[in-house]
Amino acid sequence: MRPRILVLGTGGTIAGTARSRTGKAYAAGEVALETMLDAVRALGLEAELIPRTIAAIGSQDIGWTEWDALHAAIAEAEDDPSFAGIIVTHGTDTAEETAFLLDLTLPAGKPVVLVGAMRPSDAVGSDGMRNFANAVRLAGDPESAGRGVLVVMADTVFAAADVRKAATANIDAFRGYPRGPLARVTPATLDWFAPAHRIGRPARYAWPEALPRVAILTAGAGMDAKPVEALLGIGCKGLVLAGMGQGNAPRVVIEALAKAAANGVPVVRSARVDEGMVDRNVEVDDDATGLVAARALGPAKARILLMVLIANGVTDAARIQEAFDGR
Ligand code: GLU
Repeated sequence: MRPRILVLGTGGTIAGTARSRTGKAYAAGEVALETMLDAVRALGLEAELIPRTIAAIGSQDIGWTEWDALHAAIAEAEDDPSFAGIIVTHGTDTAEETAFLLDLTLPAGKPVVLVGAMRPSDAVGSDGMRNFANAVRLAGDPESAGRGVLVVMADTVFAAADVRKAATANIDAFRGYPRGPLARVTPATLDWFAPAHRIGRPARYAWPEALPRVAILTAGAGMDAKPVEALLGIGCKGLVLAGMGQGNAPRVVIEALAKAAANGVPVVRSARVDEGMVDRNVEVDDDATGLVAARALGPAKARILLMVLIANGVTDAARIQEAFDGR
C-alpha cells in the first residue's frame, strides 16, 4: 500500500526562486506547496502526499506562531491512523532549531522528517527535488519510526539533537555532532547505521503556552559585562553563552553571569567553536558560579532546550544540567 504522508510547508530555499538559473540573489518561500508537490508527484514515487501550508517564509523569520501550528499539525497527524509519516519543508538557516524543538516536545512515534534545500528550485543543480524525494522515502518507511525528528539533506539523515548547519553555501552543508549521519538515503534506498532507540517513548516535555525570552550572548576577546546587563535589562528569563573554547568568557563576564544565575536567571555555557563538548568545571567553576555546561549542544540548540525547560518550570541549575547531560 502507498504510504500517506502529510507535508507541512513553511517555505525556505526548497520553495525559493531566483528567476535566473545561474544568479546568486533569490527569494525563499515563493513556490506554492501544491506546485512543489506536483513536481514531486511527477517523479512517480510510491506515496500519497497531502499538503498543508503552515507558512511561506525564510526560516530566519520562523518563530512561535509557526512552531505552535507545526506542533499541533504533527500531533494531530500522529493520532490519525491514515498517515504513515510527516514531512516538514523548511529553510535551512534554522532547521536545527525547529527540528530540536519538535523533537523535545513530540512522542517518538511516526517518522517526522524536516527537509530543505541549499539551492533555489530554479537554479542549475538545484538540490530541492532530490532532498524531497529522499524525505518521501524516509517518511514512508516504518523503519524511520521511533528515532525522533529527522533532518535529511544531501542523501544524509541526521537526528535533530545532533544536526547543525555547518556551511553557508554547499549542498552538503549539514553535519552531526556528537553523532554523525544516522543513515544514507536515496529515493530508492535507505541504510540505517544504528537501531531506533526511542520506539514508543512519550514526549520528553509538554508543549508550552509560550516560550520565554532567552538570548545567546557571543563572547569576544576584550568584552566587558555591559551586554549581560543589557540582556537582563530587557527581561531575559535565561541566557546562553556562546563562549570561547569550552564555553569561556572574560572573568568580568563570567562574574556577571554568575550574578544573574544567583538572581534566578539560568545561564548555560556553550561554545562558539563549531564542534565539541563543553564540560562542567574545566576552566569555569560551575559548582561555585551556578552555571550549567551545555555538553554536546551548540548555542542554537542550547537556547531551544533552555526555553523549553524554563517554560516547563525547570529553572534549578542542577535539573537543567541533568537535561543537558541527557539531551
Ligand atoms: N534563509 C533562508 C531560510 O533559511 C534560505 C536558506 C535556505 O533555506 O537554505 O529559509
